[in-house]
This record gives sequence, structure tokens and C-alpha cells, in this order.
Amino acid sequence: MHDAMDRGLLRSVADGEVRLTPEQSLRLFQDMPLAELGYWADERCRVMHGEAIRTYVMDRNINYTNVCTAHCTFCAFRRDGDDSDAYTLTVDKVLHKIQELVDIGGTQILMQGGMNPELPLEWYEHLLAAIKQRFSRVHVHAFSPPEFVEFVRFFQSPGETLEAQLKHVMERLRQAGLDSIPGGGGEIFAPAVRRKIGLGKCTAEEWLTVMRVAHSLGMNTSATMMFGHIEGLADRIHHLEQIRAWQDRSIADFAHDGGGRCMAFISWPFQRENTPLGRAKNWGEGPGDDRRQPFPGDVVARLDGSGTKEGHPEFGRRVRMSGSTDYLRTQAISRLHLDNVWSIGSSWVTMGPHIGQTGLRYGANDMGSVMMEENVVSSAGTTHCMNQAEICRLIRDAGFLPAQRDNHYDLLQVHDGPESPDLCVTDWSLHRPPTLHVEHRRAEPTAVALTVGERAVTDR
Ligand code: SF4
Repeated sequence: MHDAMDRGLLRSVADGEVRLTPEQSLRLFQDMPLAELGYWADERCRVMHGEAIRTYVMDRNINYTNVCTAHCTFCAFRRDGDDSDAYTLTVDKVLHKIQELVDIGGTQILMQGGMNPELPLEWYEHLLAAIKQRFSRVHVHAFSPPEFVEFVRFFQSPGETLEAQLKHVMERLRQAGLDSIPGGGGEIFAPAVRRKIGLGKCTAEEWLTVMRVAHSLGMNTSATMMFGHIEGLADRIHHLEQIRAWQDRSIADFAHDGGGRCMAFISWPFQRENTPLGRAKNWGEGPGDDRRQPFPGDVVARLDGSGTKEGHPEFGRRVRMSGSTDYLRTQAISRLHLDNVWSIGSSWVTMGPHIGQTGLRYGANDMGSVMMEENVVSSAGTTHCMNQAEICRLIRDAGFLPAQRDNHYDLLQVHDGPESPDLCVTDWSLHRPPTLHVEHRRAEPTAVALTVGERAVTDR
């Protein structure tokens, strides 16, 4: 075990008596053995969520368009409007997808797109109204902060401040049927990293402002982090700290008056296939690299987010890809640091079902969604797919009762009887994994609509 002081500190953190400082979280991340860090994250999870139940949700990712004005270097999904495989779904197609979801007992859609300048506000209002008219009970979790920031620009939203402009658009979409806002596009908040990888996408402050406006209107949100690329470990902690600090403010300012909050956090490692950033060299493999020296991202990163690209000549030109141990360590520290966020999700979609299952012992209380459809990380090479029975089996095999939840994390059904989806499978050898629905499969693996060499990827 780690030293007694850390054990005492983490016992208090697990019991919700004290919160970790960024400095403490970074030190624990760097120094504490993985199993021990996982133990304490699991302790914290058990205090918050009990011993018995771990959850999942029946929802469907719908990516309504892949046309996008941004050029994030980690993205294999986006297209320009005149690309041959650019698409925007029709309302009928979206409704058809929701019908398929409802047919298997689904309760929610996660709908996000590229940032398509051709779609007016009325298109979104029409889409949401059509969804709610036909599926009044389906929860619509849609439009990430970068989309909202572009909506304001595309729709020339009235108002003197970004907050006022966001409020105008958000109120209209909410009126039309929007229920809550997903935390896509968080990536890494530190400006030096964000400027390198999120080309043409909103700043961290804008991202957090979207969430704050949603909370002020009584809508819940979630938050994300995509790591394992050019960032340093201190950047990950800074990211968590920003979410925690803004959540504190939302709770203080709005909770007494029916305000919303960030309900969930999920993180996942960068998937490199088909992406411009994926062509960057791993640290230690580039000309002149000395792998005994610290990773450039760690040299640059600061806990207050103040690192600059001048901190290392190879910053942004080398990546440090994340494997299962780094993933579990990151998830564990997120559970321990984010004491004011209810749910931590396990990313089986990127890490595979069994690391996703292991995540339930490293601080995660939720296995996320059955994945009928996925278009974004699957464009970058991830194609894991599970149905309800398989998710339930993984949760049960990890030592918990599986339970279906809704977007508010209320339990819809606890699978404790013989009619449970996994217990109804009589022959797993005949239980074929479902096929992941991908809206448009890439014909040419490297046909990213960008011509980006390593320097162009990184020099921003
Ligand atoms: S990650 Fe999102 S915002 Fe960035 S290019 Fe891809 S679709 Fe556009």
C-alpha cells in the first residue's frame, strides 16, 4: 500500500469528507500503483452509488450530419459540404432510427453532428418537434457545446454577450423538444493543447459557458475528456478541475431555483486511425527524440492551464497514446477528483467490453449505452458493439446487479430475476454480437478531407 498519509487522505476523499487539490490528484496519478488507485476510486464509487447496482442506458447515437466547419486534427468523421460522402439525415431518417431504438426498449437519443452552416435554426426546431410529436417519451440529449457556439454564429443570435446569444438559441431548441446537453467537444481544456488539436472549435471558456447557460435554464449536461495524444498529465487534472469548479458555481448559483447540473463524466483515449493527428509520431520515435526525457506534453503542461507551445520544440508533434492502464488510471482519478459529479461512465466503446467491465472496479458506476449506432469514433477505427444482454452479463460478471437507467440516472428496471436479458440467453455460443450501424462507411481509409502533414497538424 501507499504511505499512511495518502491512505488517510483517500479514506476521507472516498467518504466525501475532503476534496483533492489538483496538486494531490496529479501526485496520486503519477505515483500511486494502479491497483491501489483503483481501490480508492471503487471505494468512492461504492459510497456514492452503493454496493449492489451498476447501470446502463438504452440509447442510440444519431449523428445527423457529418458536414463540419471545424478541422479537428483527431477527427475522422467530418466532411466538407461538397465531399461525395457528406450527408445530412432527413427528418424521416432520424425518426426511423428512433423507431428502431424504441422497438428494443430504448429511452433516449444522443444526437450530435458536425457544425453544418447550411442548416438554419428552423431546421433544428422542426426536427425536434417532429421527434417529440412522435416519440414524446424519448429523451433528447443533443447538440454539444461546440455546436451551440457555432449555432450562435450561424443563426446570428441576438444579444450583447455570448451567454445571452446562447440563451436565445437554447431556449428555442428547448421549446422545440431538447431535454439535455451532452458534453462532446471537451477534449482537453488547456489552451495550448486545444489550439493544436481543435482547429476551428470553441475555446474551453466558451464550452463551459454553454454548460453554464444550460444549467441556468434548468437543463442537465454531461462532460467529457479525450486524452492520450499531445497533452501532459497536468492538463488532464486541469481539465477535471475546470469541470469541478464550474459545477460548483452552477450549483451555488442555480440549484436553489431548479437549475441543472453536470450529471456525468466520461473520458476516453484518442483513437488515431484515419486521423491527421494519428500520423504524428509516438514520443521516442521521431528524429532526435530521446525517450528517456519527459514527454513534451508533460514539459509544457501546467495545472492552471497556462502552458504554452514554446515550452518544448516537439510539443504537439509527438503523441503519447493511451493503453488500458493509463485509461483506468485516468478514470479512477476522475472519480476521486470530481466529487460533485454524480456519474462516471466506463468507455467500453473505445476500450472494448472487458476493459469497460474492469472500469466498474475503477470508479465507474455506469456502462453507458448499448451501441446500436456509432459514427464518430468508429470512423477512427473503433467498432466495438454490444447489445443489452451482453452489457447485463458484463455488469453481473463484475459482481453487480445490472439495471437500466434513464437520463436522470433513475432506475427503470433492476435485472434481478430470471427474465433478465442476460439470463434469458440459453446458448451464448449462438449469441452473435450485433453489427454496429455506421451511417457512411469510408471508401478510402486515408481520404480525410484535409491535407495535413505532421507540421500542419501541429503548428497552430
Ligand atoms: S470533432 Fe466534431 S467539431 Fe471537430 S471536426 Fe470532427 S465533427 Fe467537427
